[in-house]
Amino acid sequence: MSIKVSNISKSYSDQKALQSVSFEVNQGEIVGFLGPNGAGKSTMMKVLTTYLNPSEGTALVNGFDTQSHPTDVKKSIGYLPEHNPLYTEMYIREYLKFNASIYKVANSRIEEVIKLTGLTPEANKKIGQLSKGYRQRVGLACALLHNPSVLILDEPTTGLDPNQLIEIRELIKSIGKEKTVFLSTHIMQEVEAMCDRVIIIHKGKIVADKYLTEIDDQTEQIIEVEFDYRIEEAFLSKLPNVSHVKNIHDFSYQITFDTNKDMRPIVFDFAHDNQLKILQLSRKNKNLESLFIELTSTTG
Ligand code: ADP
Ligand code: MG
Repeated sequence: MSIKVSNISKSYSDQKALQSVSFEVNQGEIVGFLGPNGAGKSTMMKVLTTYLNPSEGTALVNGFDTQSHPTDVKKSIGYLPEHNPLYTEMYIREYLKFNASIYKVANSRIEEVIKLTGLTPEANKKIGQLSKGYRQRVGLACALLHNPSVLILDEPTTGLDPNQLIEIRELIKSIGKEKTVFLSTHIMQEVEAMCDRVIIIHKGKIVADKYLTEIDDQTEQIIEVEFDYRIEEAFLSKLPNVSHVKNIHDFSYQITFDTNKDMRPIVFDFAHDNQLKILQLSRKNKNLESLFIELTSTTG
């Protein structure tokens, strides 16, 4: 187990940022920590990186407790903070050297991380001359200096243009082959692009923890259909594999089926056989998007 978080709560005066958060991250996984702005992602990451002490609960990284063994935790993790502070007047090598001296890392490792993060073509530039994408690479290079086994990346792709986005995703995925990666984002496409698993946080509470393959394999299928006049819900329940029928407005119904099989042709045939006219029909599979919206649009 790379990360084990048990019942962590954290309040800023009367603002509850985390409420009894528990989850685990296994070695070698790339896990996305997904939630809207203000959900508590950065707070959780600051607890994991020992920069904040929780109000309650425990967090272990590689078996080390963040509160009783912060030095061992820091050795185990590489951290890319949300607003990665960089010295814009420094040259890339100079900056990495400066950080390497803090961590007592050999100079040869600087060249290794430059290569690893694809910084070679820009390596002689000042940080201030770099694009946001390359600045993120410098942040990643810095996080990798002491060769940690766990990477904690807070919104690593936010603010990147589409090309930079693709490059940084690829870089994170390739780093993820060797290391455990726990990354936060408020954009679910980032999770789909990079992660094995998603942990969704909303208002300081974990509301989902799933492997992406589990979400893809979900059998629930929702069809929204509009007829030309009102029909009894019970009548539509006669369709095969129906688990739920709901009249959403006027003559529109949401029919939930418990099957992977595309039910649209069956709904059409059913309508035809019963002299019903379909004005509109759409199929909505449960996916990460619908799950995220469902779980984070609730109040309370
Ligand atoms: P996220 O990273 O998911 O956007 P944060 O962990 O930054 O969320 O914040 C969670 C909640 O805690 C928010 O409501 C935020 O306003 C509040 N918060 C974060 N940091 C502080 C702080 N230093 N002082 C007071 N409130 C804070
Ligand atoms: Mg944040």
